[in-house]
Amino acid sequence: MGAIAAAVQACRERIEAACAAAGRGSDCARLLAVSKTFPAAAVREAHDAGLTAFGESYLREALDKLDALADLPLEWHFIGPLQSNKTRPIAERFAWVHGLERAKIAHRLSEQRPATLPPLNVCVQVNVSGEASKHGVAPDQALDLARLVAGLPGLRLRGFMAIPEADADAARPHFARLRLLLEQARVAGLAVDTLSMGMSADLEVAIQEGSTLVRVGTAIFGARDYSGRLEPAPSPPAPLPLVGEGS
Ligand SMILES: *Cc1c(COP(=O)(O)O)cnc(C)c1O
Repeated sequence: MGAIAAAVQACRERIEAACAAAGRGSDCARLLAVSKTFPAAAVREAHDAGLTAFGESYLREALDKLDALADLPLEWHFIGPLQSNKTRPIAERFAWVHGLERAKIAHRLSEQRPATLPPLNVCVQVNVSGEASKHGVAPDQALDLARLVAGLPGLRLRGFMAIPEADADAARPHFARLRLLLEQARVAGLAVDTLSMGMSADLEVAIQEGSTLVRVGTAIFGARDYSGRLEPAPSPPAPLPLVGEGS
């Protein structure tokens, strides 16, 4: 078994054990494999190990990967921040977005979603930890944005997403806060089924607190190397001229 297949297996076992420990049934949370910074070949390996849903954060890189993997029946999730001038390829080529935080972007994605595709699945990102630097709407504005998404023809509201702090124990109350929002949305009559929360380091805590979809990168593909994103790799040395050629 290759390294990625073994990691997928180990990750499935973690999810199953956490679901069982939470008394939620062995299949309580979907596994979204976060493949950002990893090549198409790594995604292919994870697909061969049984995964079908993949998350990407950087649009250019993602589109190259979607092209390279067009022969596979994959479900692509855009999990990065959404910029209003880059919504069209997301509306046209992804099945889900997890980072919706502005009404204007919701309108654009809905207008740009091709009528030939099912509506784009949307999670509203919520800033549950209240840090100024974090993305997401404030918890007290999340229901308003969710209602707006639910009313747009090109979108399908699925639930909420959060990226709380790295420390799993500190994250617990923030996961619980997101779950409360899901329950409030249901009381308000919204058909929601997704809590996108939990990553490599804290998926057990997230599942205990009600996660239905964990976004796992490092535990499947290994540590990310961002150096290639900051500066291009040095170009290979030019070939030596062939002496005597053409003379
Ligand atoms: C990168 C990323 C992940 C994966 O994080 P790991 O700690 O590598 O599992 C999950 N969610 C989002 C939004 C990400 O950007």
